[in-house]
Amino acid sequence: MICTTVRNGMECPFMTASGCGYKGGVCQAIVEACKGCGRSQEFPTGWYCTSCPDPSIKWKNGNCNLATHIVIAPAAAKAKINPLKASKRAAGK
Ligand code: SF4
Repeated sequence: MICTTVRNGMECPFMTASGCGYKGGVCQAIVEACKGCGRSQEFPTGWYCTSCPDPSIKWKNGNCNLATHIVIAPAAAKAKINPLKASKRAAGK
C-alpha cells in the first residue's frame, strides 16, 4: 500500500488501511553509516531508507547487507594444495 506517513507516496509492505503497521507507526530515519547509500532517499520529513524501515537494525551486527556504498573485497582465493605433493615437497623430493 502507499505510505501516508513519513515516506509519503512510496509503496510499502507495512502500510495498511488502518495506518502503518511498523512498530511505532513510522519508519526511522537513516543513521550516520547510511550516508552515501543509494537506497537512502530524502523526503520532506527527512532522509529514510527505501529498503528498510529501521536502518539502525541493519547496522547493529556489522555492515548493512543492502548498502550500495560499501565495497567488500572478495576473500583471497585459497590455492588448492594437493596433500600428497605438499608432503613430498616438504620432504625435499
Ligand atoms: S540499505 Fe542499509 S545502508 Fe542503505 S540506507 Fe538502507 S539501511 Fe542504510
